[in-house]
Amino acid sequence: MSTLTAQSSTTTTSFSAHALDLKLKQVRLAHPEQSLPSPPSSNGASSPVERDYFYLRSLKECVEIYEDENRGKSESLAMLSDEEVVLLADNGKVAPHALEKLFGMNELERAVRVRRAIISRSSATKTLESSSIPYENYDYSRVIGACCENVVGYIPIPLGVAGPLNVDGTSFPIPMATAEGTLVASTSRGCKALNAGGGVSTVLVGDAMTRGPAIDFPSIKVAAQAKAWVDSAEGYAEMKAAFESTSRFAKLKSLKTAMAGRTMYIRFATTTGDAMGMNMISKGTEKALDAMQARFPSMVVLALSGNYCTDKKPAAINWIEGRGKSVVAEAVIPGHVVKTVLKTTVGDLCNLNVKKNLIGSAMAGSIGGFNAHASNILTAIFLATGQDPAQNVESSMCMTLMEPTNNGEDLLCSVTMPCIEVGTVGGGTVLAAQQGVLEMLGVKGAHPQHPGKNAQTLARVIASAVLAGELSLLSALAAGHLIKAHMAHNRSQVTTPAASVPVTPGPRV
Ligand code: ADP
Repeated sequence: MSTLTAQSSTTTTSFSAHALDLKLKQVRLAHPEQSLPSPPSSNGASSPVERDYFYLRSLKECVEIYEDENRGKSESLAMLSDEEVVLLADNGKVAPHALEKLFGMNELERAVRVRRAIISRSSATKTLESSSIPYENYDYSRVIGACCENVVGYIPIPLGVAGPLNVDGTSFPIPMATAEGTLVASTSRGCKALNAGGGVSTVLVGDAMTRGPAIDFPSIKVAAQAKAWVDSAEGYAEMKAAFESTSRFAKLKSLKTAMAGRTMYIRFATTTGDAMGMNMISKGTEKALDAMQARFPSMVVLALSGNYCTDKKPAAINWIEGRGKSVVAEAVIPGHVVKTVLKTTVGDLCNLNVKKNLIGSAMAGSIGGFNAHASNILTAIFLATGQDPAQNVESSMCMTLMEPTNNGEDLLCSVTMPCIEVGTVGGGTVLAAQQGVLEMLGVKGAHPQHPGKNAQTLARVIASAVLAGELSLLSALAAGHLIKAHMAHNRSQVTTPAASVPVTPGPRV
């Protein structure tokens, strides 16, 4: 506990008489290392108001104020200083996780500030409260109840822009939130080469989020009956009607069934409009399983997600069947641009792509890892646009292909990405900064005429940017430029504490 809280006022004045200056107390809370103003003289010259500026009331007084049933909790808390709320929390009167609810929507930053103090003082290091982790001037109303709990601030990540990149005839700046030096510069170089060839063209070959519940049956016989029913036209129609009753955006595309002993797995695949769709599909799946349960009363739904989805874990089923947006992006780069911009040759690039991205990955037993660093570009764009970063696992699955074209003069290259899981509504896309980035791309929120088009465009942009990243890194490797690029862009030791600087020779592969 701060020594501040050990002080108590012996003056009992009616509470309404206290014109508490919370601001002053907040300054004191934010900078506990600062020395206090001189205490009032002991001859009683100070007024009760002055005393309250500098001293805390006793725990008993604070509890009396806080528990006064004539007021709402937020009203009572407005009468207490931050330090006094910390005192209440330390004595079990206020639950730190409930501060936003108790303070009310107008005092969200205060809730965060007080929680920092509570957590800081109970931690071993006691540094959080006065740390460089920012918390001020953030729109917490978008966070509470939606994006994060027990909030103590936010983590800023540098945002760079690569490109612009011409994708299907439109020029897009490529937003990348990253702390990896050379990544944005390298991707920009790839964009330059792609633009010089006329840009990237993309096709969307699939759009379906998936959920795969695990369902137990008493025996393999009943499980097989249930599987046959789901696989039948009648069963599918009944499941689809129940599923689609939950959202106007969720349209069931397929049900894939499998058995493991007496456990059955059903992989639901659905469109989800502009949402990434996990919430939406979970609701639909639950409803469809209710309909199934009416037919098979002995079935037990073990989990709505039985890992047959598969969400946020490596899985061959995603690579083979696709999940989210399945996009292929392609471009032709003139041979002279390969030489002047990428500093290599068509032959060297194609050879390296086969040896590294195809044979090398095959030798390593990779599933969906037939690329140089798709995850680098995808994850940076995910962070910038409010996507779920944990879904980079499957979203980064990518096969990069390169071959000579036009009599061997030019380079034909493509990336095939079957699982880009993105949305432009819901999740982290509601946060102000992330919305600003989506706005810059022209894909903020729900598409006004064609639900799903904004999310699809974002997926096309991501695949195209990945192609840029692939080209640039492979070219750097082919030309042996990697170390040079690292020296130029990623060597600053001035502003980075040595203990936390990873040794990163350019984009990690
Ligand atoms: P997720 O399913 O990705 O977790 P949310 O459930 O948080 O996303 O957000 C989807 C919500 O947004 C749903 O309630 C849906 O009704 C609403 N919504 C509004 N417009 C659209 C749209 N064009 N596409 C998808 N959802 C939309």
